Amino acid sequence: MANNKLRIIPLGGLGEVGKNMMVYEWGEHILIVDTGMMFPENDMLGIDYIIPDFQYLLDKKERVCGIVITHGHEDHIGAIHHVLEQIKAPIYATPLTMGLLENKLSRGGLINKVQLNTVQAGDSAQVGPFTVEFFHVCHSIPDGVGLGIFTPVGLVIHSGDYKFDHTPVDNWPTDYARLAEFQGKGVLALLADSTNSTRSGWTASERVLDSGFREVFRTAPGRIIIASFASLISRMQQVGNAAFEHRRKLTFVGASMVENARIARRLGFLDFPEDLVVPLDQALKMSPREVVIMCTGTQGEPTSIMGRLSTGTNRQFDLIAGDTVVLSSHPIPGNEESVYRTINRLFRRGANVIYESIAPVHVSGHASQEEMKLLLHLVQPKFFIPIHGELHHLHQHAAIARQVGMPEDHIAVVENGQVIELDEQEMVLAERVPGGYVFVDGAGVGDIGPSVVREREELARDGFVLVNIKVDRNTCRLVDEPGIVTRGFIFARNGDDLFASTSQLITNAINCGTGNVQSDLEETIRSYLFNKTRRRPMVFVTVSTV
Ligand SMILES: [Zn+2]
Ligand SMILES: [Zn+2]
Repeated sequence: MANNKLRIIPLGGLGEVGKNMMVYEWGEHILIVDTGMMFPENDMLGIDYIIPDFQYLLDKKERVCGIVITHGHEDHIGAIHHVLEQIKAPIYATPLTMGLLENKLSRGGLINKVQLNTVQAGDSAQVGPFTVEFFHVCHSIPDGVGLGIFTPVGLVIHSGDYKFDHTPVDNWPTDYARLAEFQGKGVLALLADSTNSTRSGWTASERVLDSGFREVFRTAPGRIIIASFASLISRMQQVGNAAFEHRRKLTFVGASMVENARIARRLGFLDFPEDLVVPLDQALKMSPREVVIMCTGTQGEPTSIMGRLSTGTNRQFDLIAGDTVVLSSHPIPGNEESVYRTINRLFRRGANVIYESIAPVHVSGHASQEEMKLLLHLVQPKFFIPIHGELHHLHQHAAIARQVGMPEDHIAVVENGQVIELDEQEMVLAERVPGGYVFVDGAGVGDIGPSVVREREELARDGFVLVNIKVDRNTCRLVDEPGIVTRGFIFARNGDDLFASTSQLITNAINCGTGNVQSDLEETIRSYLFNKTRRRPMVFVTVSTV
């Protein structure tokens, strides 16, 4: 292993949107940036969420000098307790991010076992051989930072999630001056957010939402119910402002939303008049015209408040005539179908639904192409590594870097697990390390692999067939007709003929002695059923001897 080179090891977020985790390694010293989680794709049945595979670090636990978190979104903090259970390194984060982290860690009982260092944008921290300088960036959550990491081979800029919003909700723009200063010092490498690299132009300012919300508040005849992410703190501020202006009271619903609002308010990142926020039960007693409800469930998750409202199964309150529902969000790729299904259901239940494609009720928190070019010009890196995005986002970001004049061989488009080695002169690709998925399902972490998910897919697609056979111990012949039970395969009443012929097939196989091996028999039944139905159910055979 090279020890005069900086090693950059992406463990998550490169080749996907979510579960961001980056490792910087110098000799015996390791710095981790972000520990995010990701929600499963539609075909990952039953999986609660996914965390990075960080087995690369498990035999180097004592060498980790620190974990730096750029901001409080789940795709940057969501795996923190999984990482800390293995690696007890000090954490560095700004006040709001730390507040959200503390809340997570207190639930897992880890809070007293690690050292928490709260830093401010503009501060520096010495983490092993790395001097990490935190600079403020705008994003859809306040108190986000990018990092200037001074390493023995040079300065590396890690953008975090950012946009160049000149009129952010908290009036705190991205720290352009610091970025320009970095350029003055000479930047060896830039690692920058690629999420919106396929969007031309500039990302709109959060401010454009003010007019969108104003219109909603002006025209809504009854209650206003706004769904957003629990971590979109700036959105809460904007809804609060609109509510105050239009003499409505605001109430938060859902544990994560209530909790995050409380933390942000306590730390001064939400500025509301004293009596603006009321508890839900009070809001439900007020006139509909005096109320705004904020909740989660923008992605059509069936168990979220919005999901339950759409199916009439919410416990505390239901939709009523005159409700206006606002989805202040953008569907995460892959969720479009369930989002639109939820919107249709909400309409069916009588709500007027307003969403991104019909009104300015959401803007992205990520830089678009022109901002990406500005960042490249501001810091003028020698080398460039696009991060945060699916492979096509990373390639598009690389194309943007070439457009502004970066030579092709100074850009590395890599996915999770590909180690990059860097010194003053060159950037080379080194070995690959594990960088895949770790599934979290119920209480299990990593005990479910792709093969279990594949089985679930098969079960979901064509169901299963269970065959019970009783065999005489001495003659090895069937003593009874095979019992056949199916679920999710074929409607039983329509299957009489099929099951009769399947039963005959099994009887022949057993009595002729060709079906003695259970797995062979299962395969025989499976291909027989496939020939008859063009479906491939899972087949289980149980044999008892009498
Ligand atoms: Zn973010
Ligand atoms: Zn992110």
